[in-house]
Amino acid sequence: MAGSASVQRVHTYCGFCIARCGAVAVVEDSRFTRLEPDPSHPTGQALCAKGRAAPELVYHPERLTHPLRRTRPKGDPDAGWEQIGWDEALNLTAAAMRRVAERHGPQSVALTLSSPSTTAIGDSSGFIQRLGERGDHPRRLRLGPRVRHPLHLWGR
Ligand code: SF4
Repeated sequence: MAGSASVQRVHTYCGFCIARCGAVAVVEDSRFTRLEPDPSHPTGQALCAKGRAAPELVYHPERLTHPLRRTRPKGDPDAGWEQIGWDEALNLTAAAMRRVAERHGPQSVALTLSSPSTTAIGDSSGFIQRLGERGDHPRRLRLGPRVRHPLHLWGR
């Protein structure tokens, strides 16, 4: 880190895809304002448009920063989203997955992944794949057909 009291240059990497390009985050008055290439890093010669847009993504007013729960039935034009805590979200999700697995068998639960080459899923993909590949025990979940692009399955 170097710079004046109001401008900091933090050596980091872009986490928006598996390339993990070396970068410098410019922080002005405690606000992240730019992501620049870090030529001193082996993969930091340049950043793509997505990496350069990092501050816009971080501060976008519609960025999801907490879990939401639907309070109205699917098909209702107003989903009635309400904010819930992370523990509640994880407990609800685990209970729903367990319920489906118990009623219809573990293979009825499908997990999907976006591509680590195009999204920030890279840090989570190993966990999701291991979770999906443990299919012998009735309470364990199994990845059926591995769907790499959720929109193909859920997008209609
Ligand atoms: S999104 Fe672009 S800048 Fe970021 S790691 Fe991937 S290729 Fe590099």
